[in-house]
Amino acid sequence: MKTIAAISTPQAPGGIAMIRMTGENSIQIADQIFAAFNGIKVTEMRGYTCAYGTISDSGERVDDVVLTLFRAPHSYTGEDTVEITCHGGIYLTNLILHILLRHGAEPAPPGEFTKRAFLNGKLSLSQAEAVMDVIEADGRTALRQANLAKDGRLAKQMRDVSDALTGILSALAYWLDDAEEFPPELEQSRLSAQIREIRDKLNAMTAHYQDGLILRAGIRTVLLGLPNAGKSSVMNRLCGMNRSIVTDIAGTTRDVVTEHVKIGDYTLILSDTAGIRETANVIETIGIEQAMHELECGDLVIYVIDASVGITEDDYTMMQKCRGRKLLVLWNKTDLDAADPPALDCPVICCSALLDEHLSGFDAALRELFPQAEIGQPVAMNERQFALLSESQQHLDHAISLLEDGAEPDFLSVDLELAAKRLSEIEGKDVTQATIDGVFSRFCVGK
Ligand code: GDP
Repeated sequence: MKTIAAISTPQAPGGIAMIRMTGENSIQIADQIFAAFNGIKVTEMRGYTCAYGTISDSGERVDDVVLTLFRAPHSYTGEDTVEITCHGGIYLTNLILHILLRHGAEPAPPGEFTKRAFLNGKLSLSQAEAVMDVIEADGRTALRQANLAKDGRLAKQMRDVSDALTGILSALAYWLDDAEEFPPELEQSRLSAQIREIRDKLNAMTAHYQDGLILRAGIRTVLLGLPNAGKSSVMNRLCGMNRSIVTDIAGTTRDVVTEHVKIGDYTLILSDTAGIRETANVIETIGIEQAMHELECGDLVIYVIDASVGITEDDYTMMQKCRGRKLLVLWNKTDLDAADPPALDCPVICCSALLDEHLSGFDAALRELFPQAEIGQPVAMNERQFALLSESQQHLDHAISLLEDGAEPDFLSVDLELAAKRLSEIEGKDVTQATIDGVFSRFCVGK
């Protein structure tokens, strides 16, 4: 394949940067511009070795770099690959890239390296997608799930399920060829149990998909409660407690500043609007209307109640308006003379925003509200995988209902074949070019 090159590190000044080149001429191109201090030519280097030397342009030294060589097929892309680690200047890295392009490499489109890895059979499509998920992971759970998929756990699960379906389809084909002998595995209750088992495995992979999306993107959280309940104190406590690496992201579509707060594996995106931050009097004038507007955008409402006052009719009215959202109640100011919290059909945390440093119980309450897939369980990681798994499930459900209605086993084959086909598409078998292009379009240049 054509030789391509790109800067794989961010376009920002840094200690080091890396430029990557892959394709049939990469070794020859590198050999023309790089001279190792030990005198060994790039063409003579073995795979998986590095050399320290100089990159020159028309006889003038550009930078001292480390060149790492991967020989096909033992590289990320499966093709000869050269990685040049240079000093991390923006001008310098772009200059080295331009030198490579002048010597015959072409600029790599986004995701082209991983696309080649897929096309050369080094990665399945779900593994390729997982590479981007690893890069984008912003918490331990997201990273674990992405690494599982990258290691091929999802691909293996797909293979296991597809093999089970192929087993049933082979038995069906055998029976249709030789109808006198009825294979015992096609007996109604056994067949039904087998298909249900496969369907349940797929269910487990999609069950927490929506929650997973919210978790990866961050839980949009609205703080509500009557004036003086302690919302600002809770906000400050949460922000002070575990302020995330990403903070103060301004200019979102909602035109508010948000605070990203990390609690265990969860990221809360707390709306930092005037309505939440201002004094009690202003909240009163802005009123419930403003709060309700905030509510529309939220995944989670943290409703704060002043425990020293107790729950009031206004609290019940406001909580009633939160119906349809996940609700977490903070029974705040328990350091004062406070009654026990009332029984509510949502998690209730007793706390004192004034004294509790960690608002203990928050993590557990979030777990209850946003359950996560079991660690180690392969799950759908994106909309494409989710849609294919769901379609496959629907075909299996249809097959099960046909069986329950007394249909002969051969009536099931269309559904079973379609279910298997959808699963194989997850791994990139028989997918269209548009699907492949769609997957890699979300990648960054140089990956
Ligand atoms: P908001 O109007 O809901 O934002 O409430 P604030 O956070 O402004 O708090 C109102 C008052 O209650 C302030 O004087 C806070 O110091 C006080 N307050 C907040 N949380 C607690 C708490 O847990 N215990 C006590 N004793 N006072 C609190």
